[in-house]
Amino acid sequence: MAPEPPDGYRPDITSILAQVNDNQVETYQADGRKKIEELYISYLNLLKNKEWEVEKVADSKTTWHGQAVSYPILAFTTKIKGSATYVLSGIHGEEPTGPNAIAESIDTLSEMGQKKSIVLIPLCNPLGYLRNWRYLNKKEYTDLPGSVGMSVGDSEHYLIDPKDKTKARAEKPANAECAALSNYILQVSRDYPPTMSLDFHGDVLVPKGYIYSIGKDGEKDTVASQILKILETNGIPIQWEGKTRFGEDIVNGKVGPQEDGSIDELISARKIIIDGKIVPGPGAARAFVLETPDADIALDKRVDAYKAVISFLNGY
Ligand SMILES: [Zn+2]
Repeated sequence: MAPEPPDGYRPDITSILAQVNDNQVETYQADGRKKIEELYISYLNLLKNKEWEVEKVADSKTTWHGQAVSYPILAFTTKIKGSATYVLSGIHGEEPTGPNAIAESIDTLSEMGQKKSIVLIPLCNPLGYLRNWRYLNKKEYTDLPGSVGMSVGDSEHYLIDPKDKTKARAEKPANAECAALSNYILQVSRDYPPTMSLDFHGDVLVPKGYIYSIGKDGEKDTVASQILKILETNGIPIQWEGKTRFGEDIVNGKVGPQEDGSIDELISARKIIIDGKIVPGPGAARAFVLETPDADIALDKRVDAYKAVISFLNGY
């Protein structure tokens, strides 16, 4: 049965919930993740106390089990504008920890909204979450040629090609969702210039967690170190040294800046390229991508660790 919206929703919230509940499909739940409807209800509870507003970034649509489905990608902003902390989650649909932790942190986020400027995109890839698919077009990562996964977190069309700095790395956006999300970041960063960004990920193929720190201090970033300590204290083993499974160096639990074409790189980019012109980018001084070991640590434990990180942001 469809959950009832709480009292006090504005009319547009009712239409968002109606859209979500119109989809007659079951969320993949073998790992214990919340139903997708439950996530939307939780996120929209942020609007109850008037510190937050919501915007629809895009509708993400497909056909699933013979049914046409459509879910909104929602972005929440605090009424307080200015230098902001960005929180992103659910870029990869097989990584439910971030979306679930945010759904369980609504009270903390409500409190934060009274004193800080925040941009929150809690479920960047709803179709992936629903199906446990990493990408829009396929379930899993592979590096086989001709088998490219379409990520909602791709921003190569705005990022400068290191080999030819007069060009973007891609001529056009890789898909409609990544186009909408990248555009939203550029639009929202005018009123909410990002100072710090956190993107909650996870990986079933790593035994220990680590953080990509792609802002100006890279692997020397002190806030990334604090976040690593919080993860460790909350039962997440940390890979302090060595290499990631992609061959990147890990220094004190951190991997420095990567040219991976991600939305995180866009948020931290000081220069970007639009229609062949180099222009200032959002330029977040700190941008972190958090990775937890998802095969070995149970979802509820990972959720608790990410909730602790969100609580840390409240005090930061
Ligand atoms: Zn991921």
